[in-house]
Amino acid sequence: MGANETFFTRAKLSIPGGVNSPVRAYGSVGGTPRFLVSASGAYVTDAEGRDYVDLVSSWGPAILGHAHPDVVKAVQDAAARGLSFGASTPGETELAELIRERISVTQQDGSEQRGVEKLRLVSTGTEATMTAIRLARGATGRDLLVKFAGHYHGHSDALLAESGSGVATLAMPGSAGVTAATAAQTLVLPYNDLDAVRETFAQHGDRIAAVIVEAASANMGVVPPARGFNRALSRITRENGALLILDEVLTGFRVGSAGWWGLEASRVVPDGAGWQPDLYTFGKVIGGGMPLAALGGRADIMDLLAPLGPVYQAGTLSGNPVAVAAGIATLRAADAAVYERLNATADRLAEGVSAALAAEGVEHSVQRAGNLFSFAFSPVPLRNYVDAKAQQTFRYPPFFHAMLDAGVNLPPSVFEAWFVSAAHDDAAVSRILDAAPAAARAAAAAHPAA
Ligand code: PLP
Repeated sequence: MGANETFFTRAKLSIPGGVNSPVRAYGSVGGTPRFLVSASGAYVTDAEGRDYVDLVSSWGPAILGHAHPDVVKAVQDAAARGLSFGASTPGETELAELIRERISVTQQDGSEQRGVEKLRLVSTGTEATMTAIRLARGATGRDLLVKFAGHYHGHSDALLAESGSGVATLAMPGSAGVTAATAAQTLVLPYNDLDAVRETFAQHGDRIAAVIVEAASANMGVVPPARGFNRALSRITRENGALLILDEVLTGFRVGSAGWWGLEASRVVPDGAGWQPDLYTFGKVIGGGMPLAALGGRADIMDLLAPLGPVYQAGTLSGNPVAVAAGIATLRAADAAVYERLNATADRLAEGVSAALAAEGVEHSVQRAGNLFSFAFSPVPLRNYVDAKAQQTFRYPPFFHAMLDAGVNLPPSVFEAWFVSAAHDDAAVSRILDAAPAAARAAAAAHPAA
């Protein structure tokens, strides 16, 4: 028995399923999860001493590559000054200012469009979205929430209905333990379907507190918003007195300096200009690999949070100084050159792997949202969760394992995005592209389970 298997067997005795987050268990791809002991740049190393080019990137945060020297130094310096104070620190304001500066775009007429007026730091994306919803309900005095099927916003009760990510991977409709009353307050609509949104507002408009949407969805594989979709959501919510919560936990600071909203607002993505959500949620990259997330947006809404307002939210570790130091170092290093590099690497990988699949006659669609991408085993591009579930998912496990055998660590689920980092150099990209033909052959030879 190898070390990975030994660790997994032992973990299962003390930890449910042997993991602290379900997708790590390899449930949908089979086999033994790799237990990782270190990571550097574009590579992770497992308990057996094998290294892999990593396309999980800690599910997003490792945008600069693992253990980037600036980030490690910032963390070490901060840790030496104390791990947690339970009081305010100068770093929290510095990070908030940095984010406010970044979530703004210069319009063609030279004017500045600012997305985040105020920001609160929390520890996980789940907390950020959960708080944003409470805030929206507090601000509007309404109870209903609209979300989209296949979108994942963390694991708070209200948001698990027809959720993406691990819930999709395990093919679960939702979660046990969520009360019927809570579930009934979440209306789940098909993504990219504005008619469904309009109909729902026509029926329940005066009871809807907020629409929450992934800025570009990446938890059912990558499924970009249809042209003008986000902008239309912002108009419909505004017309109906509801709020729009743009979940940029995954896309924020990853697809561009000002997140997906920045790409739309600055017209990198066509037909997106001139709109703004009421609230944004951030996570992943802003903590540079440490537990840190945030919600922010309109000052009049954010000021409803305690201690100024009646909506309560708090956290022992909120704005933790070590996490904040990692976030500041990461955002400072993630400059325009980093985003150019991520885009170029994503182009090379998307094209190269697609060519390998095509050469083996594997029907697939390259799903892209900026530098995020995934491959769907579908003849047509995915637009929503129904499409995502209809693909030939059985082709992914053999594809995944062929890549893993060749030293490439892909997300262990077809419903996840591939994350590149600025540390993915020619050698890392070549290893992935060299592995792709055999993986494509394995995908081509796959059959549905009997
Ligand atoms: N929102 C989105 C879009 C996410 O992708 C995730 C996590 O993958 C979350 C929220 C939840 O973040 P966390 O896992 O930090 O709770």
